[in-house]
Amino acid sequence: MSTATIHDDPQLRARFSELKPALAPQAAVIEADRCLNCFDAPCTAACPTHIDVPGFIKRIASGNVRGAALRILDANILGSSCARVCPVDVLCEGACVMHWHNRQPIQIGLLQRHAMDAFYAASELPPMASTAARNIKVACVGGGPASLACAAELRRRGAEATIIERRTLPGGLNTYGVAEYKLRAADSLREVEMIRRIGVEFRFGVSIDSEADLEKLESEFNYVFLGIGLGAMQQLGIPGEDAEGVMNALELIAAYKTGHLRELHGTVVVVGGGNTAIDAANAARRLGAETVYLLYRRSADEIPAFDFEYEHAKQEGVQFLWRRQPLAVRRNEHGRLLVDTVQVRQLDKTLLPIPDSHYTIACDLLVPAIGQSPLTQLIRELRGIEVRDGRIVADPFTGHTSNPRYFAGGDCVNGGREVVDAVAAGKRAALAILETPEVAAHA
Ligand code: SF4
Repeated sequence: MSTATIHDDPQLRARFSELKPALAPQAAVIEADRCLNCFDAPCTAACPTHIDVPGFIKRIASGNVRGAALRILDANILGSSCARVCPVDVLCEGACVMHWHNRQPIQIGLLQRHAMDAFYAASELPPMASTAARNIKVACVGGGPASLACAAELRRRGAEATIIERRTLPGGLNTYGVAEYKLRAADSLREVEMIRRIGVEFRFGVSIDSEADLEKLESEFNYVFLGIGLGAMQQLGIPGEDAEGVMNALELIAAYKTGHLRELHGTVVVVGGGNTAIDAANAARRLGAETVYLLYRRSADEIPAFDFEYEHAKQEGVQFLWRRQPLAVRRNEHGRLLVDTVQVRQLDKTLLPIPDSHYTIACDLLVPAIGQSPLTQLIRELRGIEVRDGRIVADPFTGHTSNPRYFAGGDCVNGGREVVDAVAAGKRAALAILETPEVAAHA
């Protein structure tokens, strides 16, 4: 796989221009001035990484944008990507006291972005929390937000941290899986570069998938942090889904973000109702598909995507087909994909097909987006790490697994939540590793 991104193609970049443009400097100061600097700020409590929101906003209001960025980074090393991808409506901005006064909440996400963009424009580095070198080496398996946060925190506190990533680019879903109009791959990589500059080592193209790989890891490192995310997307489990012209949502998003997929035509059918399904459907529209259907087996009220994602998809022109399920995929004599579908109704928790409601949708691309399967079998079998319902069982406060040398955090533990949750988990695990008796004794 090449290391190209959508950033290298101006036309494609324009099609995926950012949804929320940055605040102009003057507008940022005016917005920051509205903040009431609440004591016991509910916005900070609502942030999984507990960023000192009034603290950084106050610094923007007083013109100390660098200080604002350092305040953010102290709590959240991925403050730039979180400013872009966090569902702020249900986190910090959702908790803002301005709602109590029927006023617009403070635009915390945009202010955070303002501070972080200035920080990166100046090629700054966050200060190290401790200059004392610690004689400890930690491998962080997976190059996504949980591992990045864990490795950066360890490094900032004097430990050696190495990220082991099977792909050729770091950043995990931030680079490969988040819609480009929310977070540009280039911005994700810029953030990773800062983490590399503070001394985290990166090894790319390295898979951990055998006993020998684990033994090698354990002989080189004192601890292993598993930030392996979720695995491949689940299959639909219907006949014909291996046909050419079927590409799952994560493959589609990664393909256009890395510049491998530049346009689409005709009709695209996306199956699923989560945020990733919406991202894929919107991407298909922006790549040129004239018609994009999103098939979801339940009703509009039950769609798991956030409301603002659903509203956005409607604006992009995505058409929703509710309570409809695919049954089979085949090709007609003209080479088009035919997706046989049926209307369903719910009886208790079971979905039942409605008689005589079958119809076939002809399309050019079918995109399953029905969730991911965790990648946990290997570590369960070879290292006895407890796995429940496909997720690694880890202490919620420390990330410690049932194996004393292994910690874990992010999607592989929580089943797939927000980037900011993964960052919080990675940081907690780093602090817990530094407090293990073996490490603390040598500090
Ligand atoms: Fe400012 Fe709103 Fe947070 Fe209060 S709750 S500190 S007004 S952002």
